[in-house]
Amino acid sequence: MKQTITDINIDNKRVLLRCDFNVPIKNGNVIDNTKIVKSLETINYLITHNAKIIILSHLGRVKTEEDKRTNSLYIIKPILENLLNKKISFASDILSPDTKQMALNLQPGEILLLENTRFLDVPNKLESKLNEEIAQKIAELGEVYIFDAFAVAHRSHTSVVGIPRFLPNAIGFLVAKEVAMLNNLVINPEHPFTVLMGGAKVDDKLPIIESLLPICDHLLLSGGIANSFLNALGLSTGASLKTNDPEIINKLKELMLKYKTKFAFPLDATIERTYDEKPLIKATNNIEADDIIKDIGPKTITKYTNIINNSATIFVNGTMGVYEENEFKNGTIEIFNALKNAKKTTVIGGGDTISALNNLGFKDVFANISSGGGATLEYIAKKSLPGLDAISEEDTVEVLDL
Ligand code: ADP
Ligand code: MG
Repeated sequence: MKQTITDINIDNKRVLLRCDFNVPIKNGNVIDNTKIVKSLETINYLITHNAKIIILSHLGRVKTEEDKRTNSLYIIKPILENLLNKKISFASDILSPDTKQMALNLQPGEILLLENTRFLDVPNKLESKLNEEIAQKIAELGEVYIFDAFAVAHRSHTSVVGIPRFLPNAIGFLVAKEVAMLNNLVINPEHPFTVLMGGAKVDDKLPIIESLLPICDHLLLSGGIANSFLNALGLSTGASLKTNDPEIINKLKELMLKYKTKFAFPLDATIERTYDEKPLIKATNNIEADDIIKDIGPKTITKYTNIINNSATIFVNGTMGVYEENEFKNGTIEIFNALKNAKKTTVIGGGDTISALNNLGFKDVFANISSGGGATLEYIAKKSLPGLDAISEEDTVEVLDL
């Protein structure tokens, strides 16, 4: 077990807290503050314990000087101040002597927010290419390191795996809950356990599919993933998105042979067909050469709903169809409705899948949402992550029978 924030002494200490404040921004405004709200439990615990809090986070993609203009973490300052109902300070350069002075001057319960860690990437990739020297410099700002940014736990970045090498460290409440949820509900689930895999590319999802197949009772497929499996079986998928990699196609065949009884395939699809030069959208089980499968059809929705209703636990990753387009979001909506009505233990993960939940009217409907995209999938597949491996193990107290 990893050391958690409650296992180590943080009272009156300068605590470097790695958060995930990578919020969506549109026209210069934060349009969803869920990630900041999720960080509050750890921040409030640190405040209550009189820690001097120094927060680090990444935000957006920062590759050029130009990117810095639109990705300053300063945008988080007023939001955090509002949520905590207290003033916080901001340092615009993580490595400057002034910032070090600000950190050293912090009083118990005060917060210093540092600029976007990814600014260190311009021009020398000092964040995203693990740099021990920089990690040590940042570590000097604090006395303890707390990791609470699950969504970047699969990244071997300086602020994720570098800093904890130089300080006593632990995971925060958000990461602890996330790991416990994935361990208890997905890796050791109550059966019947159903996995619903949708989305675009089978290549990305193969490791998680391979690790879930031995555990699950049913694997329901949709999207480009289903197309790839159907194509490997020799069935027609028209001009739909699927893998062309012969090695992967062979792997898919192997898996279908080995776990034959677990697979559930779509019975029909909502397709886009060019007819008299106009696009025609219809549900069918007869796929022609130029057809593009863009969603599951009504028969598939009924079939998958029945399996969901007879499951104890369901894990969902990937959307059923191209939910970004109005004509093809129905399958995803209907499956989310089925999950909502079934009231079974449901764990949902994946970047696009969570955005689909929020955009299609299912925000706050499900209790077990995994905040990591790639990190969630990698944890389920490998049962470890670089950001977790970097944190010390809890001291185990041996009870001696004297
Ligand atoms: P996540 O990011 O949650 O892991 P994915 O990226 O795998 O999920 O899945 C969502 C993406 O899959 C969406 O962009 C959606 O348009 C795409 N998708 C779903 N079904 C299809 C399909 N039939 N053809 C092409 N793209 C699809
Ligand atoms: Mg995605």
